[in-house]
Formats: sequence, structure tokens, C-alpha cells
Amino acid sequence: MATGPSRPAGVHPLVAAALFVGIALFVGGIVRTAVDHRQARRAGWRVFALLYGVSEVGEGAEVPVAAEGHASGDPGEGGDCPATRPGELAWSAFLIKGQRRTVLFDTGFDDPAMARRWRVRGFRRVTSIVRTLGVDPEDVTDVVLSHLHWDHAGNVAPFTRARVWVRRAEYDWARSVVAPERFARHGVHWTDVEVLQSIERRGHLELLGDRGVEIAPGLRLHLGGLHSRGDQWLEVRVGGTVGTVVIVGDDAASFASLTREAADAARARLRARMAELAGGEDHVLMSHDIGIWSRFPEVADRVVEIR
Ligand SMILES: [Zn+2]
Repeated sequence: MATGPSRPAGVHPLVAAALFVGIALFVGGIVRTAVDHRQARRAGWRVFALLYGVSEVGEGAEVPVAAEGHASGDPGEGGDCPATRPGELAWSAFLIKGQRRTVLFDTGFDDPAMARRWRVRGFRRVTSIVRTLGVDPEDVTDVVLSHLHWDHAGNVAPFTRARVWVRRAEYDWARSVVAPERFARHGVHWTDVEVLQSIERRGHLELLGDRGVEIAPGLRLHLGGLHSRGDQWLEVRVGGTVGTVVIVGDDAASFASLTREAADAARARLRARMAELAGGEDHVLMSHDIGIWSRFPEVADRVVEIR
């Protein structure tokens, strides 16, 4: 007698469905964990400080302490660098490596006359220091310019393949203060602006607005605006015991000024935020702070690694 279609022997459909969902969740979990691990690994950057010279500033030294006004965002005529504390003034740039990117924070300068004027001891071009780390200038994928003063944006041309990140407010301001017949003003040199204009024509200039921008996972640029019209600073996730490093540029002139020179409420707030992000002041790095060179291990000639 016919009994109708019989159920094929094997697993009940509900059990099969449950098994399928279970396996999918399990595999999904493994994949997600692997992706999390990969992202965590990828987000880990290495940060190197590059010392391209040292000057002695202050009373009795060969270089006078620059006008306080320069560091407070009101650059005076002549464009001196913010040496607001007597002592040794470091000239630094920073290299950040990871995620198949090589990022240079500021390019220093390539002007023997300025090196003489500032009595820079042991002056070297940033290009030659990055080579000691096995990095050819053409390998640099990104150049971040904290601002467009001569000692931060004075040597961009050799990094021919890099995308160059700068704030539009800073670029517009720099173009408004110098011209071929007004070579140097407010710390900006016309030749540096010319180089940026040619980079803009090549389509490699990234002009940023006022907001924070993540240029790669774990690498975030913030508007500072405390030192020049549109200066910016960089937050870098290093991971491990270091956590986050903040590269300030000239928003604060020295390590001491980070805590003691909070002249106004906005500055105090910003500096507190930087220190909070960096989990303390040790990992807030200023371009002219000689203290960086004793706080971290030397990994190559004129290079320390932040770790
Ligand atoms: Zn500077």
C-alpha cells in the first residue's frame, strides 16, 4: 500500500538548519577574530624622531630667544622659530611607518643661510637622516606638514611621490603673505610655497578643512591653530605599551611649556586633550623639544624610536 512520499533518511530539516546556523556563527566568529587581529596589527605604527640639528638659545647664547608672540599664534615679521625658553633647541622631524605607508611629519629645511643664522650645530638634511632608516625619499608615501614655516615645510621637493597633507587655511594664509618680490615674511618662504603650488598642479596636494581627518587607520590629523593660521597635529596609534603618541609640531615650543605656559583657556584645553590622548606627557612630541632625545632609545644615528 502506498504511504506517500517518505522522508529521506538522515537529519531532520530543523536540526540541519540549526547545525548550519551554528557552523556559520562559529566560522563567522573565527573570521571576525582574524580580521580584528589583523586590524589591530595593521593599526600599530612605529614612530621615529629625526634630529637634524641643535641650537643654543637664550641669554648669553648666540641666538636670542624669539618673540613670545610667535608662539602664541601671532607670528612677527621676520619669522623666527618659537624659541621661547632659553636652552637647547632641537630641530626635529618625525617618520611614521606601518600599513605599507611611510609618513613624514614635517620635512625640515634645506637652507644653509638659515642654518648659519640659527647657528645650528650638526645640521643635516632630513632626506639624509631618513636614508639611515633604509627609506629613500621616493619611498615616502605621505608628507604631513604641521604648518608652513620655513623650518617645517622647507624641504618638500625631494619627496616626489608623496601625497602632501596641509590645512587649506594654512596654505591660503601662506600664499597671502609671500610672493616672488616678498621672499620671506611671517616665517614663510616664497620658494616653499612655490614647491607646494607645483605639487598642487600635479594633484598631490591634499588640502584639509577644519575637521579631524583619519588619513589611515590609527593616524588622525587635528587642527591646532595655536601657532599659525592653520597648523595641525597628528595622533598616532602605536599600540602595545606605548598606546597613542601625539606629534604636536610647534603648538607648544618645549616640553616645559606644555604644562607651564598655558597662556589662555583654549591652549590649556588643547594641551590637556593632547596629554590625555597620549596617556601622559612623555608621548606628546614637540618639534623643538630637546627632551625627546633623552627620553627614548637611539636606534640609528640621529634617530630615536618612540617606545
Ligand atoms: Zn619650528
